[in-house]
Amino acid sequence: MTDLDAFRSDTRAWLEANCPPEMRSPLRSEADACWGGRNWTFQSDAQRRWLEVMAERGWTVPDWPKDYGGGGLSPDEARVLKEEMQRIGARPPLTSFGISMLGPALLKFGTEEQKKHYLGQIARGEIRWCQGYSEPGAGSDLAGLQTKAEAVSDPIGGDHWLVTGQKVWTSYADKADWIFCLVRTSSESKQGGISFLLFDMETPGVSTKPILLISGNSPFCETFFDNVKVPKEQIVGEVNKGWDVAKYLLGHEREMISGMGLAGGGSLGAAMKPTDPLLRAEIAAFDVDSLAFAAMSERFAAMWKAGEAHPASPSMTKYAGTELNKRRNELAMAASGSDALEWDSERGKKGKAPRDWLRSKGNSIEGGTSEIQLNIVAKHILRLPGA
Ligand SMILES: Cc1cc2nc3c(=O)[nH]c(=O)nc-3n(C[C@H](O)[C@H](O)[C@H](O)COP(=O)(O)OP(=O)(O)OC[C@H]3O[C@@H](n4cnc5c(N)ncnc54)[C@H](O)[C@@H]3O)c2cc1C
Repeated sequence: MTDLDAFRSDTRAWLEANCPPEMRSPLRSEADACWGGRNWTFQSDAQRRWLEVMAERGWTVPDWPKDYGGGGLSPDEARVLKEEMQRIGARPPLTSFGISMLGPALLKFGTEEQKKHYLGQIARGEIRWCQGYSEPGAGSDLAGLQTKAEAVSDPIGGDHWLVTGQKVWTSYADKADWIFCLVRTSSESKQGGISFLLFDMETPGVSTKPILLISGNSPFCETFFDNVKVPKEQIVGEVNKGWDVAKYLLGHEREMISGMGLAGGGSLGAAMKPTDPLLRAEIAAFDVDSLAFAAMSERFAAMWKAGEAHPASPSMTKYAGTELNKRRNELAMAASGSDALEWDSERGKKGKAPRDWLRSKGNSIEGGTSEIQLNIVAKHILRLPGA
């Protein structure tokens, strides 16, 4: 038996003993996920127990170092854990922008104090984060952002940043405890005048206003900052070098978004069993593309984690994964016939299919639109003339 085989059999036994039966079914929607944070209300004892046992083992972030709340697993061990969780249908114990976005950026750019302070809390699900990037005048042209942070020297209250401005499309800003936020600290250079700050959403001067969507949900907010005082040390990386942190974080965000459509997806043909031969052919073609994508993205994710991938590779996987997810939802709607038009029905799923279909449209916008990903691939990977 190799070490990895032994790890697999220990992991299998541990999961069997510790994963509550209620946590062995795929997440049906974002609402089923455990987001953690200081105001989180667990949906069940099983959800609480699952987070606690996994966090105690460092397995909410299996490949982070043990010193920062992680499991310290090698890439192969982390893969085995993922496979063993998939085998029993175990849900992720924690869904968190801290894990998928901020954590990797802190590991690379944070000071030792910042890593010690924030990463353990993220791993245990104690802070829920939101992302303050987009502004009314800065989406695809993110570096055009105007939210300003002014350095203030204050011998009595402590040196700090004074932040003023507005963000938009801030997912779950009204539920988050803290924000990672891009601010302008110099107007002399576009990218070179941006800094990356962390602050508590309960700081005086922060307010949020939810935006209602066509799906009937309200997952985003407008977020306003009115003279928000942020302690000087809550900057990640150097002053005016926040663009490097922002881009690195975006790479991880794009990897995460690219896999969203596959999470718990399985074969569409097995799930839908359509009778129409043309639809069957389209679904079969989708299933083949989906398997190819899963293999490709696993390879890219491993290369990305090992620092061997092209810096623009998350743009390829983000583009391919989100376009595939839209196709999946189009096919699911087509195969469901009149059931797909259900919206407020009391019959079980209550409009899940059309809501998922509408949500999938946002997939190819969030984290940078498909057009922007194609521009990046054209310029940095294909080196096309004029790109
Ligand atoms: C579900 C979802 C969640 C989100 N969550 C967050 C969040 O938590 N935090 C946050 O900060 N932001 C968030 N966003 C915002 C997201 O990052 C922006 O919507 C996105 O970057 C696009 O910016 P925009 O909406 O201003 O569109 P624009 O930049 O105005 O683009 C409009 C259209 O023009 C196209 N376009 C623009 N420039 C070019 C170009 N150079 N070449 C070709 N085409 C171009 C775009 O592709 C798009 O089709 C979220 C968005 C969605 C949909």
